[in-house]
Amino acid sequence: MVKVLLVEDNPLNMELIIEILQSQGFTVDKADDGEKAVIMTEKSTYDLILMDIALPGIDGIETTKKIRSMPQYKNVPFIALTAFAMAGDKERLLNAGFNEYVSKPLDVHEFVKKMEKYRK
Ligand SMILES: [Mg+2]
Repeated sequence: MVKVLLVEDNPLNMELIIEILQSQGFTVDKADDGEKAVIMTEKSTYDLILMDIALPGIDGIETTKKIRSMPQYKNVPFIALTAFAMAGDKERLLNAGFNEYVSKPLDVHEFVKKMEKYRK
């Protein structure tokens, strides 16, 4: 089972993404802000992190930097969920430690295809 942590503050996006991931066979835990995500990643180990960028409190970029700095998360894939997927932001996301990003609003078909490669 591939264990995913989904960090998203929008309940509708959260629900949609969980539904898709579960239908693909992923096990999903959720956090609705960055602080909770950091605590959860300290307590448990995830195989994949899906991270919204715009979060209340510490944003997705800062949260990712914090989690990435833990040795057990050095090689875990991080996928940004972002509403502002412009050229400059892509660079910023990759520099922050993300492996790739998914644009919102979510293209379900594209998202499913993107997640395929993370299934084991
Ligand atoms: Mg958000």
